[in-house]
Amino acid sequence: MSDNIDEESFAAFLDGMRRFVRERLVPAEQQVEEEDEVPDSIVMEMMNLGLFGIGIPPEYGGLGLTVAQEARLSIVLGEASAAFRFVFMPNVGLGSRSILISGTDAQKRAYLPRLATGALRACFCLTEPGSGSDAASLRTAARRDGDFYVINGSKRFISNAPRADIFVVMARTDAQSSSGAGISAIIVERGTPGLQVGPAEKKLGQRGAPIADVTFDDVRVPAENLIGGREGLGFSTAMKVLDAGRISVAASAVGMARRIIDEASRYAVQRTQFGQPIAKFQLIQAMLADSETEYLAGHALTLQAAETLSRGGDARNLAAAAKYFCSESVSRIADRAVQILGGAGYISGHPIERFYRDSRVLRIYEGTSQILQLVIARTMLKGFE
Ligand SMILES: Cc1cc2nc3c(=O)[nH]c(=O)nc-3n(C[C@H](O)[C@H](O)[C@H](O)COP(=O)(O)OP(=O)(O)OC[C@H]3O[C@@H](n4cnc5c(N)ncnc54)[C@H](O)[C@@H]3O)c2cc1C
Repeated sequence: MSDNIDEESFAAFLDGMRRFVRERLVPAEQQVEEEDEVPDSIVMEMMNLGLFGIGIPPEYGGLGLTVAQEARLSIVLGEASAAFRFVFMPNVGLGSRSILISGTDAQKRAYLPRLATGALRACFCLTEPGSGSDAASLRTAARRDGDFYVINGSKRFISNAPRADIFVVMARTDAQSSSGAGISAIIVERGTPGLQVGPAEKKLGQRGAPIADVTFDDVRVPAENLIGGREGLGFSTAMKVLDAGRISVAASAVGMARRIIDEASRYAVQRTQFGQPIAKFQLIQAMLADSETEYLAGHALTLQAAETLSRGGDARNLAAAAKYFCSESVSRIADRAVQILGGAGYISGHPIERFYRDSRVLRIYEGTSQILQLVIARTMLKGFE
């Protein structure tokens, strides 16, 4: 357990979050879907609740939750539309964690307090048009020029880019190297000349969670923005950030699965066919039982991965397995839920139709299922080689 927040206080915090999800987030889901935006009033409430700083240590103004506590919170928040989580998660996870893991003291002091309050919003720029799964082959270049780096290149599908104030950019500082060793992480502030954010993409799901291209055209940033103050730390930092990120995606999939199963169960006991609730039919019960079993397995695996990482253990394989299993299973769970609802599950405006679309991308970002299979197999086989 974290030294920062004891179990009893954390349990009370989680209860408050369950209420927030039930009373504020779930009722606003349809509005977010229609407007493709989370209302400012909810963003303000998230700031007041400290959600932007949950993973940032108290000395920088955050709550300092452990990865395990963050996972339990993400399970609770996962029961509401994914868009809400994307308001603050880039500050908690991908954006701030690179600074937390590898940043200098000056960088931590300069950025973490404002990320913790939500005064600054972050995004994490790794993917490029030519490098997705093969992230180590990225081409965006940062050339040293006196006390500056000059960045050129483009990034693709960057979550939160349209509303970010700082961009944590993975760029190649060693032009001779084509591997991860030549990559560094650099902080670029919005408004720096040459930095451009494209229009938000239209997507299959997760409306209200914008993604966009980011381009860098001779963007000059002070050399002190190099995370960790040393070149070559970027790729290993990104991989560590992704361990926690994958656990966070797994946890949100677990929360999503819970909500979907509850919606489907509620419908099954209310909907009558052949003179009785469809929940009485064993073929419907089988679908519910399969979904509940997958939910329980995913819940246990996610907490195991989160607790291992919280204790400082090697969680790379567990994080990959949790994200792989939970993202694949929530897709199956959403698919069964559409089947249980029949035509009603296919109609826009029903939460099940939305979760069916929203859940799909969990199998793609922060490592596709195929890449996670490779990570798991590689680790397993090491012991036999
Ligand atoms: C909604 C959304 C939000 C995102 N947010 C961010 C963000 O904030 N920051 C960021 O940097 N990126 C972000 N991404 C990008 C995301 O991480 C990438 O889309 C993902 O890593 C896959 O890369 P790709 O799309 O280029 O697919 P590709 O890498 O081109 O993969 C295409 C297919 O080939 C398969 N494949 C690739 N290599 C192998 C292999 N060796 N063996 C077997 N199969 C393989 C993949 O599994 C996939 O099925 C986001 C994407 C989306 C859709």
